[in-house]
Amino acid sequence: MISVIEIPTDINSSFALGASKGPPIIKKQFDSEATNKFSENGFDLRKRYNWKSIKNLNDKNRDKTFKLISKTIETELHKSRYCISIGGDHSITYPIIAAYHKFFPKINIVHFDAHPDLYETFDDNPYSHASPFARIMENNLAASLTQFGIRTMNDHQREQATRFNVNVVPINQSSIDIELKFSEPVYISIDLDGLDPAYAPGVSHPEPGGLSTREIINFISNIEGDIIGADIVEYNPYKDINEITAITAAKLLKEIMGKVIE
Ligand code: MN
Ligand code: MN
Repeated sequence: MISVIEIPTDINSSFALGASKGPPIIKKQFDSEATNKFSENGFDLRKRYNWKSIKNLNDKNRDKTFKLISKTIETELHKSRYCISIGGDHSITYPIIAAYHKFFPKINIVHFDAHPDLYETFDDNPYSHASPFARIMENNLAASLTQFGIRTMNDHQREQATRFNVNVVPINQSSIDIELKFSEPVYISIDLDGLDPAYAPGVSHPEPGGLSTREIINFISNIEGDIIGADIVEYNPYKDINEITAITAAKLLKEIMGKVIE
């Protein structure tokens, strides 16, 4: 059984607010009768998940927020339920992985994003949505980090990527050329701005030149290994057009659900 968890917070966003309002709209599109609940690989997803929401998150207290996120994930993992979290800004990946690490000491993270999110600190906030993978890697919470879609690398983050031995896959490398084989568990983190703004305009930091929806689905379906969890973050409904980004997030959710082991 999969637990899909809405995590409506954006207290660690650096530029534009709105990500805290995203999760219910993704749910609305996931439940839309415009489509069915089969993944492309043929699973009937209707019996595979519970849908939950973390309440009272936007209290501006970062410590409390992260503790509540970690505790919620831990509770689900205790029940042997793998989690797909719906954000929320990208800062939530750090407390999620901190919880996962207690159950899975060797997690391989596959991360889609326009941004490496490796800042030591950003706007004096070490828990910024620009920093989750710096926190994860410096605390040795992941065995490896592979990044796709990166197209905003700067000097500081390049140093951080080297320091943490991050596998940054060049943006122009096609999915068919890449082997994604893992002998240890895999966690997928999708920042929707990894997609080109043409596919996902509803994000706070649109960065042209990105991945297509098809490319991300192909990368995910090519993963060989036990997928034990995921997050889909940074949906900002204030920037969206006809909810196309929410529809895309719901599509990616379905494809990940079809890949998560049971
Ligand atoms: Mn991003
Ligand atoms: Mn991000």
